[in-house]
Amino acid sequence: MFVGVGASRVRDLFEQGKKNAPSIIFIDEIDAVGRHRGAGLGGGHDEREQTLNALLVEMDGFESTTNIILLAATNRPDVLDSALLRPGRFDRQVVVDIPDLRGRKGILKVHTNDIPLDKNVDMEVLAKGTPGLVGADLENLVNEASLLAARDGKSKVSMEDFEAAKDKVMMGVERKSMILSDEEKELTAYHESGHALVAKLLPKADPVHKVSIIPRGRALGVTAQLPVDERHNYSQSYINTRLRVLLGGRAAEQLIFNELTTGAGNDIEVATEMGRKMVCEWGMSDLMGPLTFGKKDEEIFLGKEIATNRDYSETTARKIDEEVSRIIREAEEEALALLKKNEKSLHRVAKELLKHETIDGDDLDKIMAGKTLRRRRAKRANGAKEGKTKKAANVTSKKKKMAEKSA
Ligand code: ZN
Repeated sequence: MFVGVGASRVRDLFEQGKKNAPSIIFIDEIDAVGRHRGAGLGGGHDEREQTLNALLVEMDGFESTTNIILLAATNRPDVLDSALLRPGRFDRQVVVDIPDLRGRKGILKVHTNDIPLDKNVDMEVLAKGTPGLVGADLENLVNEASLLAARDGKSKVSMEDFEAAKDKVMMGVERKSMILSDEEKELTAYHESGHALVAKLLPKADPVHKVSIIPRGRALGVTAQLPVDERHNYSQSYINTRLRVLLGGRAAEQLIFNELTTGAGNDIEVATEMGRKMVCEWGMSDLMGPLTFGKKDEEIFLGKEIATNRDYSETTARKIDEEVSRIIREAEEEALALLKKNEKSLHRVAKELLKHETIDGDDLDKIMAGKTLRRRRAKRANGAKEGKTKKAANVTSKKKKMAEKSA
């Protein structure tokens, strides 16, 4: 059934289902027709309402002897019309959450089934290093790894390929062509070192996975952290730590160059949003107490911000702003103080970062322990020739096709 073809198709669908019973009817993206009726903006769609009505009527028409199972999928259960979810209609909900460690391992196994793998590939390690990725991301990761192996003319995909692909998927694509001036490079190095050092020094922070000053996407540098365990719930102290890590970049710029740049723009944006949520949604401000401020109107799918309607007074609004500002400022001051106390380490990390461009968590430990890094030249050959792609015949044809497409 396709959306937009109306009520008669719905009747037709159920007729066919009944004729072929026992049967399963599956409706994907049910929110396209099942959206809450009469939602102001973007609502009042006549045909959609008729389709929904037809669907509701058909679902009521089931006899207890009808052998039809009706399934539907959506990622917006919150916008569904409540009539759809009543007993006798879609009365059971199965939540398919983002995969956990075991789930990711399983998904990776499925996608690597027809790919020749090197002996050193460990799915457990890979699954551990990819928290937050969903099925499509993991498939993409496998494709990227096969592509890298094919480019290097290898007959098997190795762990190094997977690691490189993981960085690409999780941190963005390196922009080798972008040339930074020495001054920009130094600034970026101190900025990223600031993030990394604060993360290293605060006990509650997620471990630093990689720090890099190779431009990726729109960022000039990246500091990537990976949680030790799956997280489902965040404590206030963890969020406070996140704020300090976020503001560590800017604090480092300020401390070393006594100057601010636009580079911290994104950090500030994320931090501000986090601070606002602490006050308005999570009740993490003593001054404001355990209340939510601002009701979100989920029915409207224009900008989220537009849809937030205010249910508090001007005075409260001012208090919220002050509270958010206090939280962020406190985090900034603490990050700055922390870096000031460890300025020597900051210089060392930045210097090594300038020299090696990318360092990982172990490197960071070594630098902070006062050792200099000796680089095992593990950098992959990036300028693989196109001719090589054709030579790599052993990687399965499907993956190879994808490899050539995106090469
Ligand atoms: Zn930053």
